[in-house]
Amino acid sequence: MQKPPPPPRTEPREIIELRQLRKEQPELAQAVDLQIDLLQLQRRVQSRVPLPSMNLDASRLDAMLEAGTPILTFEQVPIDWSDLRFLVRSTADAMRTHEAIEPDDFKRVEALSRDAERLEPAIRNWYDKARPVPAGGGSVAEDVAGLEPLLLQAMRPFLTRCAEAVTARTSFQAWVHGNCPLCGGEPDFSVITPAAERLLICARCTARWPFDQLACPFCRNTDRSRITSFATRDGLYRLNGCDACERYLKAFDARHAHRAVMLVVDAIATLPLDAAAVQRGYR
Ligand SMILES: [Zn+2]
Ligand SMILES: [Zn+2]
Repeated sequence: MQKPPPPPRTEPREIIELRQLRKEQPELAQAVDLQIDLLQLQRRVQSRVPLPSMNLDASRLDAMLEAGTPILTFEQVPIDWSDLRFLVRSTADAMRTHEAIEPDDFKRVEALSRDAERLEPAIRNWYDKARPVPAGGGSVAEDVAGLEPLLLQAMRPFLTRCAEAVTARTSFQAWVHGNCPLCGGEPDFSVITPAAERLLICARCTARWPFDQLACPFCRNTDRSRITSFATRDGLYRLNGCDACERYLKAFDARHAHRAVMLVVDAIATLPLDAAAVQRGYR
């Protein structure tokens, strides 16, 4: 008897939204296609990443947050090194296909992914650089300089797993800083909740934490006259630029939305806002 064909694999919501975005804004096609490739690569690894082995006792987490110490150390990240090597190499391939990496950087990544003795300290250096007590030496820092966007993508399945585990235990209310309470990374997106609270979203582990509505998370500037804010016509996205440090942060305004924020979709849908920010002198 002939077997029925396997049911079509359901596409994750993010990929469906990205395809829709591509239809509506063909000028974003290149960025959308890269993002879809990256999501598909990450999904291959994501499902088998184990939970981090760490003490998730709520009072211990709160004590760390109150002390201003990001919770997750490098040793606790459940990295499978052969999966990570696969992700580093295939992320580089995808970025090359979509012209998102310089040829020299591509060669550097290839060499790095083949050399286990260099890869581990390089990844550790990248991870710890965003944390209060930096580790690692000069030569390692050279290994990762300029490759941060690629490493961020390759490390994402491991770090988001940690974020899932920890955010099930705490909402980071005791954390008052602009960098990530979990991994120490910087925010690269934010969401304004229906209750008008602002949550910052970590560029590395995608954890979300509450932060002052207006203050600049990068330099703590709270002077309203030195913060420029503008929104897209539909009110769905906002951008806050800081005139003190000249950095900016984009936001998804859930008060004007019919769905929840999706970092990988909204970061691409707002590429025109990035261009507007750069035009105004922010970086
Ligand atoms: Zn983080
Ligand atoms: Zn600032």
